[in-house]
Amino acid sequence: MSEKPPQTVDPLALPAAFQRSLIEWFDAGGRDYPWRRTSDPYAILVSEIMLQQTQIATVLGRGYYQRWLERFPDVHTLAAAPEADLLKHWEGLGYYNRARNLQKAARAVVEQHGGRFPETLEGLQSLPGVGRYTAGAVLSFAWDRPAPIVDGNVARVFARLFDLREPVDTPASKDQLWQWADALLPESRAKAYNSALMELGQRLCTKAAPACVDCPVAHCCATREPASLPVKSAARATVAVTERAWLAVRDGRILLEQESGSRRQGLWRLPLADPGEPPGPVLTKLKYGITHHRVDLIVQGWIGDPTGLDRRSDPVSSAGERRWFDIAEELPAVAMPSPYRRAVEAALRDGGDFRLGE
Ligand code: SF4
Repeated sequence: MSEKPPQTVDPLALPAAFQRSLIEWFDAGGRDYPWRRTSDPYAILVSEIMLQQTQIATVLGRGYYQRWLERFPDVHTLAAAPEADLLKHWEGLGYYNRARNLQKAARAVVEQHGGRFPETLEGLQSLPGVGRYTAGAVLSFAWDRPAPIVDGNVARVFARLFDLREPVDTPASKDQLWQWADALLPESRAKAYNSALMELGQRLCTKAAPACVDCPVAHCCATREPASLPVKSAARATVAVTERAWLAVRDGRILLEQESGSRRQGLWRLPLADPGEPPGPVLTKLKYGITHHRVDLIVQGWIGDPTGLDRRSDPVSSAGERRWFDIAEELPAVAMPSPYRRAVEAALRDGGDFRLGE
């Protein structure tokens, strides 16, 4: 970590100095992203929702943003699309309620606002899945209106700028962060200013190695120990979970089960084994994380009567309907959580000649 230059300007006393330094830095070398080249509120909302829990490198580098806008170019197309189509285009991004909320927001724009996005913070926040941050982002990025934003990057920048020693995730600290965001916001060039603030957090004021000697607002920054901030409340303990799933394949078809739990509702995965069911031959294993769970996924070959397997229902788990899918024709188009997609591919590839009825 580089040595932190001393603070010489209080940004709250001289917000214009802070704004100018930040915007000049951004004008000279801000990154060029597709959502910065558009003023379409729908395209901006898609980028904001995708980036909520996913890195830019994944959203852009793996083509999610581009494919989504090609398939669902506007609110009307998205509002009318089948849910299975949304989930397939979101496959691999996780947190699938984001895709469902995007569709609900598109439907609200179509049905309640005549197909045009509301141009106020309150109107935007009335859309499903759109909170205070997202509403401010859409308002400033689409229409260049002054609207404060606080996301994880901005919270880190402000915690250091104002040397906030309290955990940033308490209600009092969140309130404080929004007050600072409001106080420092310029009347004009809100799009450039908010973009610059976020980019400062992404590129220079990073979690592990803040590059203070290169920072355009180092003269406004109060902390002497940037790497020790932000302070966070104790993380929720990680819980280890084992999932045993069946691979049942017959006549070129695979048995899948549709999830009905809230997190991955509507996606298809291998049927989960009941605790009382005897283990079958292990075909593949992998580990994955979901929220605070570390999951060991074990795929085993089904050795019983497949007719019974596809009829069995489990009232305790989140299991829903079971269906046989043609492996060559249908399986690639089914929306599936990515750990299960990898497990199915590995089990089919490495599972030897394990086949039911073949
Ligand atoms: S805002 Fe971040 S990068 Fe800039 S001087 Fe402060 S701690 Fe360093």
